[in-house]
Amino acid sequence: MLVDLFGRRITYLRISITDRCNLRCLYCSGRPFEWLAPERILSYEEIYRLVKVAVHLGVERVRLTGGEPLVRRGVAGLIRMLAGIPGLRDLSLTTNGLLLANLAQELRGAGLRRVNVSLDTFDPEKFRRITGVDGLERVLAGIEAALSAGLTPVKVNVVVMRGLNDEEVPELARWTLSTPVHLRFIEFMPVGEGTEWGPDRFVPLEEIRERAAEAGELRPAEVEGGGPARVFRLPGGKGTVGFIAAMSRHFCRHCNRLRITPEGRIRYCLFSDREFDLRPHLARGEEALAEALRQAVRRKPASRLGLEPRRLMRTIGG
Ligand code: SAM
Repeated sequence: MLVDLFGRRITYLRISITDRCNLRCLYCSGRPFEWLAPERILSYEEIYRLVKVAVHLGVERVRLTGGEPLVRRGVAGLIRMLAGIPGLRDLSLTTNGLLLANLAQELRGAGLRRVNVSLDTFDPEKFRRITGVDGLERVLAGIEAALSAGLTPVKVNVVVMRGLNDEEVPELARWTLSTPVHLRFIEFMPVGEGTEWGPDRFVPLEEIRERAAEAGELRPAEVEGGGPARVFRLPGGKGTVGFIAAMSRHFCRHCNRLRITPEGRIRYCLFSDREFDLRPHLARGEEALAEALRQAVRRKPASRLGLEPRRLMRTIGG
């Protein structure tokens, strides 16, 4: 078992399979881009080995993220490899949805269970402003394709930013009345240097919730893999409306996760720049790798309070 010094069991890995992305989101990109050299990125074989050992140590859920995981060639092949690992209960992926329309069916066929799609606005112009790309239609088509392919539940992550998309919260919430998507409004977090984050952009969760309630009464509900989200349903809604208060109410006491960066470094906490390089251990056999994981888990901080990460979300795996 992977248990940290505070008695928290680690059952969830978020693995960033690339730092590359086909968007330039203003909360994620920061200053000039420098990609990791391809040879520094974990191979699919290395990711497979890591997940196999982690599952043996009690990890039950794996999420692939990035960067944008769908820009990495052959990602369906990786999913097929991981889906075959006995004991892995939940395999999911977080994507910006740009390439999802063409890939949803193949990913489902390879064994992917569900997806989270990031979408902050329904307004094409704002979409371009937030992401740097004219791509709203493609993302919406990607969400449709995910629903048709049975990648359920389809969750949609919305980062709420004052002056950018906060006015749209009620409209986004209303979307769940007609469409079986599971929205999750997320507080804007100060992760990474040189992003758009600032106190003026931050909208506290209570305010987001009040705006969402303009769409109707929010009744408590449940959705698979709910994680730290508080989930509600509008009367008659096909989907749900969830809230993740990453800033106002931290959930460190229940943290069950580790992040793996594209170059194979364990990140104990999203907010801590302290990392543990797993790469040397990946070549040393399963027992050595298991021991490295056990050691790494013991370094997980009790809480994120007081920590200020400099690494950008894109290079960590959000
Ligand atoms: N490219 C994929 C995507 O767009 O979903 C996966 C990587 S992206 C870094 C993962 C998630 O992190 C996205 O939902 C994005 O909105 C969120 N994110 C990035 N920076 C953030 C920040 N500063 N605060 C809150 N969420 C953030």
